[in-house]
Amino acid sequence: MAQLINGRELADNLQEQMRLEVDVLKKQGVFPGLVVFLVGDDPASKTYIKNKEIASQKIGIQSTVENYPSDISEEKLLAEIEKYNNDPNYHGILVQLPLPGHIDEEKVLLAIDPKKDVDGFHPMNMGKLLLGQPQTLPCTPYGIMKMFEAYEIHLEGKHAIVIGRSNIVGKPMAQLLLAKNATVTMAHSHTKDLPALAKQADVIVSAVGKGNFVTKDFVKEGAVVIDVGMNRDENGKRIGDVNFVEVEPKASFITPVPKGVGPMTITMLMQQTIEACKRQEFN
Ligand code: NAP
Repeated sequence: MAQLINGRELADNLQEQMRLEVDVLKKQGVFPGLVVFLVGDDPASKTYIKNKEIASQKIGIQSTVENYPSDISEEKLLAEIEKYNNDPNYHGILVQLPLPGHIDEEKVLLAIDPKKDVDGFHPMNMGKLLLGQPQTLPCTPYGIMKMFEAYEIHLEGKHAIVIGRSNIVGKPMAQLLLAKNATVTMAHSHTKDLPALAKQADVIVSAVGKGNFVTKDFVKEGAVVIDVGMNRDENGKRIGDVNFVEVEPKASFITPVPKGVGPMTITMLMQQTIEACKRQEFN
């Protein structure tokens, strides 16, 4: 039977440490601030933003949500970002993706001052990660690395497979595993014979976005299984990419969905806001 990696509990512990750290900063007259941009009223985006606000409040980060109509022009959105780039009260800027089709996401991400890019999606921060000089990291892979650390899962020399190669999860995840001296395989929709390939791995990170995609046939006895997927089953219940019932008995460690990777993603956003604040205020 696998040991459950309790992302919720770990996130709560880390958030409590952050709350104490923010208390100390406030006594020094420093107030970490985060602004979140929401364009339109996508219900999923609204839920993510609400959860971010709850975490900010718990920790004591001042958070503002700027909600713009879905027909806001790209020019106006870029001007709004520039306004916050120049506002010293805000140390972190996050633009909730996806954006409406008429807005160029790449242009928007480029417009954020890399120092305030607490999501780690700016090409400058991505490049630093690739060069092994990370500053701000994409929050989901960063949260997964914190899980490995907390559960003393050693990666050196291990074979890790990352399924999915998105810019926000798969690619940065692979880089972080590589930096810890894992041997990394990246799989995607063109990968041949994926179950057999995954079965060679000591660590599986699945970021595909398909419910019950990773079955017991993907998993070798004793593998560590990290489920990034956030999907709904036919009854609307939240499920991951991993068929938990089948895979759990074979794994050594496994993350549940919900209460696995999700809470850690938000927690890393908070941590990177505090780190960005300290860099901006004290350097
Ligand atoms: P994405 O951009 O849709 O990418 C999905 C990846 O899966 C692509 O690289 C795709 O390959 C690959 N893929 C699709 N079908 C496949 C198949 N049959 N075999 C192998 N690979 C396949 O997804 P994402 O943004 O990384 O998100 C992935 C999942 O994680 C989603 O469920 C999302 O909701 C969830 N997520 C969760 C969190 C969290 O905090 N818990 C954060 C971010 C994302 P190609 O590149 O070849 O198309």
